[in-house]
Amino acid sequence: MNSILSSDRMKNVHSDIRGPIFEKAMEMVSAGIDVLRLNTGNPATFGFTMPDSVRTALINNVDKAVGYCDLKGMPDARTAICDYHVGKGLLNLTMDDIFIGNGVSEVVNMAMTTFLNPGDEILIPSPSYSLWTNMAYIVGATPVLYRCDEACEWYPDVADIRKKITQRTRAIVIINPNNPTGALYSQEVMAQIIQIAREHKLLICSDEIYDRLVMDGLEHVSTAALAPDMPVLTFNGLSKSHIVCGFRCGWLAISGPRQQIGSLIASITKLAAMRLCGNALTQLVIPAALEDEESTKALIAPGGRIYEQREATIKALDQIEGISYVKNSAAFYLFPKLDAKKFNITDDKKFVMDLLESKHLLLVAGSGFDWPEPDHFRIVMLPEPKVLTKAMQDMGDFLSTYRQE
Ligand code: PLP
Repeated sequence: MNSILSSDRMKNVHSDIRGPIFEKAMEMVSAGIDVLRLNTGNPATFGFTMPDSVRTALINNVDKAVGYCDLKGMPDARTAICDYHVGKGLLNLTMDDIFIGNGVSEVVNMAMTTFLNPGDEILIPSPSYSLWTNMAYIVGATPVLYRCDEACEWYPDVADIRKKITQRTRAIVIINPNNPTGALYSQEVMAQIIQIAREHKLLICSDEIYDRLVMDGLEHVSTAALAPDMPVLTFNGLSKSHIVCGFRCGWLAISGPRQQIGSLIASITKLAAMRLCGNALTQLVIPAALEDEESTKALIAPGGRIYEQREATIKALDQIEGISYVKNSAAFYLFPKLDAKKFNITDDKKFVMDLLESKHLLLVAGSGFDWPEPDHFRIVMLPEPKVLTKAMQDMGDFLSTYRQE
């Protein structure tokens, strides 16, 4: 009998955060080895807990989530999301423009399924979280990577974006703040990207899941607030800001001239109906979570865990010869650069595997974020400061003699 093959569209799909090196780490854990797993941005695994506001909203309302809810999501939740985005400058938004799903992951899946045809191109930042490139592959579209410039705070390289536009380009993805760089983009660079999208009639997809995790007194500005004349799909959710990754709570807000994207909205509505509704339990907490800004702010202010963990990490990294980095202003990620000549690194996954085997420290290689050179890796700065300091010291010790053959 012929074997049953997986679709060709799956060939390029990769999720290195939970890929083969992660599997090796899990084997080590099963064998009793204590591995520090800095591969996933999952705060709950490092002792972070959801805010009381969220727990109370869930417990007090649990009976309301027993049935299927509205295909776009519960009205109270959508009203709260709408108010949140209106507060950030999205014009003429109503609760009907909000689709709630099982994490940003699900609503990205729904959106990309509806606006891309096989062979279409979509511009995606490099480096970036692999959800976007993977979804492009899955729908048969081509992800075209535009470069973010480490020498310029990891901002998108606007000239590179222009160069990569073709007749087939349909959309551009902006991830701001970015994963894995933790960069927050300036309004100037955002205005330039929006102008390119305007000239070429590209749909803008703006992933803003880290917008509430911005540090150092900086402020996040929504792409859609800067582009009221254009259709923008804004993606956001509670996974990171409210420490509820496992709840799978994300949403899509559609703004701009709806007449230009009427059929797209109808298709997303069809897809939302097809899966009946998102998980209703998670939606119960949305109004309380979005009202409770203080819990998140406490984590990113000096003295707060996310802030202090970043400070400890970079202080320890500064002691390592052959590593440089751009300090992140948001989220809890750092994307350091290895001196490829010094370490002769030609395979970043091998570097990550060697480090895992030697120091029981699990990272993700830059190539896992569609970074083309073998000279970067991502650190998830979620453990307590002293744990991160020790981990960086271990890495320094490892690198003091490391050279790839
Ligand atoms: N977008 C970015 C940039 C992310 O980093 C992540 C998760 O790490 C997601 C989306 C997925 O989020 P969710 O948990 O809402 O599916």
